[in-house]
Amino acid sequence: MDNAVIFVKLLFILGTICDTALSFVPRKALLRPPSTKWRRPNGEYVSRSMLSMKVRVGLVGLPNVGKSTLFNALAQKTIANAENFPFCTIEPNVSPIPIPDPNLSKIATIAKSKKALPATLQCIDVAGLVKNASRGEGLGNRFLATVRECDVICHLVRNYIDDDIIHVEGEVNPVVDAEVVNLELLLADLAHVQRRLERKCEGEEKETLEKVLKGLETGVPARTIGLTESEKFSIKSMGLLTLKPVIYAFNVDEIDFILNKEEAMEQGQSFMKQIQYCDPNVDTYTIVSAKLESELISLNQEEKNEYLESLGMESSTDESLSKLLSYNVLPLLVKDLLGLSLVYTGPGVAPERSQTTKTHMYNSGSMTASGLAGRLHGEIQRGFIRAEVVNSNDLIKCDNYNSAKDNGYMRTEGREYVLQADDIVLIKWK
Ligand code: GDP
Repeated sequence: MDNAVIFVKLLFILGTICDTALSFVPRKALLRPPSTKWRRPNGEYVSRSMLSMKVRVGLVGLPNVGKSTLFNALAQKTIANAENFPFCTIEPNVSPIPIPDPNLSKIATIAKSKKALPATLQCIDVAGLVKNASRGEGLGNRFLATVRECDVICHLVRNYIDDDIIHVEGEVNPVVDAEVVNLELLLADLAHVQRRLERKCEGEEKETLEKVLKGLETGVPARTIGLTESEKFSIKSMGLLTLKPVIYAFNVDEIDFILNKEEAMEQGQSFMKQIQYCDPNVDTYTIVSAKLESELISLNQEEKNEYLESLGMESSTDESLSKLLSYNVLPLLVKDLLGLSLVYTGPGVAPERSQTTKTHMYNSGSMTASGLAGRLHGEIQRGFIRAEVVNSNDLIKCDNYNSAKDNGYMRTEGREYVLQADDIVLIKWK
């Protein structure tokens, strides 16, 4: 036999052995990224995943309220199946949703970047929740595990009348519907906290959980108890559902969205005061029209105008219309609710080394120039010399990176500089 044929056969046998061996390894272990650790300048180790910020927004609500429809509108494409029967979403759909930012394209143009990367949220369309989900009804437990991993809950509440669309509770009542979901979240937390306290649990975690338990037993969500940052941190790994801030999205019909938005907003505010287990001091709300917003995705400007005119709206520009839609409104609400800020990198880098203006999202007041360098690359952080910083509005005003420098808008900062919202940062490193 020719050597090449023997070599190919050997490769084949080796491949089969590896495949068989891998089939004994749990699938999760294969999917898990290697556990890389990175060291902060102060010597503390953190996992690399902490360096890139992922903000997850979970869409929750009763079945058939329009979650998948809204998810498609947010993603600006049809990903999720939106059908008129409960539990048509089984596996959660996930899509990135960019944070709207009119400055990004201007900055990228000034920087002559080929690409402009916005910061994004991860939106997750979770299976519908029904009464007793906390005890495993519907897709109960699977659903709740997905929500535990989210940073914010977007609670979609049906406020449109359509006799053709089945309502799992029989009739549309936004306050009652929202309470069904809220109660399930609260009961799920109650069981989760009780289980944890029965097992080994000590110190600040135990004290905090006892406090949370007391609250939950009297119907007070964990976010309403007034936990300190340190207490919240001590129970972070539990992913308590009622600790997450909530954006209530009241899903109204197309006409109300277009013609009666102010009244719909007022009505939303009154719902917020009535809904049990809602904390108006932490939570917020918005008005959406899942159906209208998802239908607009596939229309060109002329068709959009025709459609909107048929609903009684005078023709609008694409820009003024898009400002009203959830894919613009919701990410900004999340950004405000979580206190996030944006900074940019890319401008000032020699074109042969980078052709991308990139937006980075972080918790306001929490990121240093060195931390940002670490997000770009460990080498950049290790070789950090200084950061050149200019505010994005100043750069846009000067319309040129060098003239921003010449006009004194550029500052030189060190490793420990705490980034300010909308900074453009060029890190010099060796
Ligand atoms: P989910 O179970 O909450 O994900 O609900 P879906 O997005 O799958 O929607 C269920 C049904 O309700 C589908 O037939 C949708 O077309 C319809 N639907 C969703 N949103 C609206 C809306 O705003 N108005 C009306 N009339 N129907 C809607």
